[in-house]
Amino acid sequence: AHLERVAAVDGQVHAFLHVDEEAVLAQARAVDERRAAGERLGPLAGVPIAHKDVFTTADMPTTAGSKILEGWRPPYDATVTARLRAAGLVILGKANMDEFAMGSSTENSAFGPSRNPWDLTRVPGGSSGGSSAAVAAYEAPLATGTDTGGSIRQPAAVTGIVGVKPTYGGSSRYGVIAFASSLDTPGPFARTVLDAALLHEAFSGHDPMDSTSIDAPVPPVVEAARRADVAGLRVGVVKELAGDGYQPGVLARYREAVELLESLGAKVVEVSCPHFGYALPAYYLIAPSECSSNLARFDAMRYGLRVGDDGTRSAEEVMALTRAQGFGAEVKRRIMLGTYALSSGYYDAYYGKAQQVRTLIKRDFEAAFEQVDVLVSPTTPTTAFPIGERADDPMAMYLADLCTIPANLAGVPAISVPCGLAEPDAAGGEGGGLPVGLQVMAPVLADDRVYRVGAAVE
Ligand code: GLN
Repeated sequence: AHLERVAAVDGQVHAFLHVDEEAVLAQARAVDERRAAGERLGPLAGVPIAHKDVFTTADMPTTAGSKILEGWRPPYDATVTARLRAAGLVILGKANMDEFAMGSSTENSAFGPSRNPWDLTRVPGGSSGGSSAAVAAYEAPLATGTDTGGSIRQPAAVTGIVGVKPTYGGSSRYGVIAFASSLDTPGPFARTVLDAALLHEAFSGHDPMDSTSIDAPVPPVVEAARRADVAGLRVGVVKELAGDGYQPGVLARYREAVELLESLGAKVVEVSCPHFGYALPAYYLIAPSECSSNLARFDAMRYGLRVGDDGTRSAEEVMALTRAQGFGAEVKRRIMLGTYALSSGYYDAYYGKAQQVRTLIKRDFEAAFEQVDVLVSPTTPTTAFPIGERADDPMAMYLADLCTIPANLAGVPAISVPCGLAEPDAAGGEGGGLPVGLQVMAPVLADDRVYRVGAAVE
């Protein structure tokens, strides 16, 4: 049924970069055989899933949305991929994404943008926009994504589905093509909070192959999603994450969601996180710095593309030609920003300062979580924007992650859960009739709380 749906709508949605029908059916038959042989499989066995094309898959290409990896076949599975295979999930295909997960719209994919199923002229968010579009368009019931600055929560919000960024280190980065290693966090997409929790549980937990993986039990997210009660829970409304620059239609739905939580017995208070306003600039120094180092491995020798290797050029010339042709404009911009921020003489002023700001943001969270159990905000300042609107304006694009970045800098878990459609603006403003997301954030390893609150709201 899902393959039929993909065949019917993906020509318009373009959620997928790779679907191999025969391989999908073979995997499904293999799950049946395992069941017939008496193997006890988990609750998601046989359920199809779309993987963001940043997770390595030993039997399928993996491009990270980049020409530089075109034609590359990974020799191994990411831990997330492997665990979900073992649990019996069927890989439907690889989902489109912004190149190396840099972006908020999938317009930075080297293979063309995905489209928002609610309005095909608009973006499905990003960087995991193929994953969000696939789930929102009913092409896949579940998908994986990665969230470095908001790339799961923001696309979930603008396509009206559920997306979760787990605690940093709660899900393994092994086999996930690196963007910014201190921030990258694999997580689930689904149409319900309980589905997201089942997926979260199926791939999470300690992985010795990832040095930043946390060696602690997986928080009881499925139980929390089933419980869905918020009576007595202290909910902090982040003062700094609402107001000017947010669409009125988004703020109206957000305030209703907060009122709903109050009516369900939560104690709502306003909380100030004074350094959140510096999160975006700090992120745009830290993430590009880490990417400039991580992307050095694409040297024309080890992976995929190699340009100009005709026997007349030096290795350095081949590397320069390959990187010039293989990387897109946004990736080059980030590499240059990062290299600059890390260079001697500027390191203390830029990268060092950004790290200090990161500590202040972490302390804001710690102080807030002494007063409340969870923090809430809109997931995004606006609903889905038109394709092309921000493509040539990096600053406008970066603002899509204003509300989501603080959680990445502090490593705390956060969910985006749908909270209705924005009212068409009386003033004729943008964004009416499109989905709005509520973000819920909790302390490190309290992932269950974001599921509990999310399930109460949906
Ligand atoms: N949009 C942000 C960026 O471009 C976040 C991306 C992400 O979370 N992968 O860096």
